[in-house]
Amino acid sequence: MIAVQNDHLPWHQPVWDQLAACHRRGRVPHAIAVVGIAGLGKSRLAIRFAQTLLCVSPRSDGEGCSQCRRCHLQAAGSHPDHYAVYPESDPSGPIKIDQIRRLIEFLMQSSQYGGYRVALVDPADNMTLAAANSLLKTLEEPPEAAVLMLIARQFSRLPATLRSRCRLVQLQPPPAALARGWLAEHCPEAIGLLQLAGGAPLRAMAYAQAGTEERYVALIADLLAIVEGRRAPVLAAQDWTGVGLREWIELLQLALAELARAVFTQCEIAHIPGRADLQTLSQRIDHSRLHDYMEEVVATRRILDQPLNEQLVIEDLFIRWRTAAAVRASHKR
Ligand SMILES: [Zn+2]
Repeated sequence: MIAVQNDHLPWHQPVWDQLAACHRRGRVPHAIAVVGIAGLGKSRLAIRFAQTLLCVSPRSDGEGCSQCRRCHLQAAGSHPDHYAVYPESDPSGPIKIDQIRRLIEFLMQSSQYGGYRVALVDPADNMTLAAANSLLKTLEEPPEAAVLMLIARQFSRLPATLRSRCRLVQLQPPPAALARGWLAEHCPEAIGLLQLAGGAPLRAMAYAQAGTEERYVALIADLLAIVEGRRAPVLAAQDWTGVGLREWIELLQLALAELARAVFTQCEIAHIPGRADLQTLSQRIDHSRLHDYMEEVVATRRILDQPLNEQLVIEDLFIRWRTAAAVRASHKR
């Protein structure tokens, strides 16, 4: 489904100006990689530019006119010169070679409306290696008036040969004042979650809407309770099953990243949810053990595509956490 959003995100403006200038000069790259952390609106930017490319007469500011038949078709997700590929089932699942082959076929056809053909891969870093490699030939000999947009959080995960053929459009988290101002207007309750979201406003908004804050604070409380021997890893794991393993690990990584900032830099923890417990934890864990534990969590995250028993994985990570924090805790006594 392709939905056109009319409320533009203010932090897109600098990169938007560059894209609009390429279009005005008739020098649109054949392949564009829109790259940035989650929650910056990468897909929205790509779809907005696709609308410009597909519109009969874009406005002077580079926007699609929203009035012509082609703009209507694109808004309805039925423009024949627009093609988008997403993971088939699970949004975090792989994008497979068959999907990319169909996309390449689309790019090779001639345009139905005599203009650009625009294809999106979202997220491109979910392409299997075979899928990514199958795009190479198309990028080496790009078809006329075809534009491929790759949307990626971790561009480095794509083969270097593919990356080198894309124009990089890098989105950065906006300055804090801009992000806070925008959230104040759209979702004030998310302002306090901005740091947790790595400065990405849409992610902070998603956290606020999903009740992430409560879960995050609860997880930090559990980490502390396990270190202090007030809570058994097995029982804690029971309470967390059902949240979804991917989300749970993401929460754990957020908490550990905050903890690492405090432990490695010896700085005070900022005013974020769970601050007091994090501060206590930062006194209890040794930095090299924290580092090793974070690596273990990353390793677990890498195998999430495999069928895993949610409770056992959480239990295992809680037990490892207790072990990781044990030495320093016993020193302190
Ligand atoms: Zn139009």
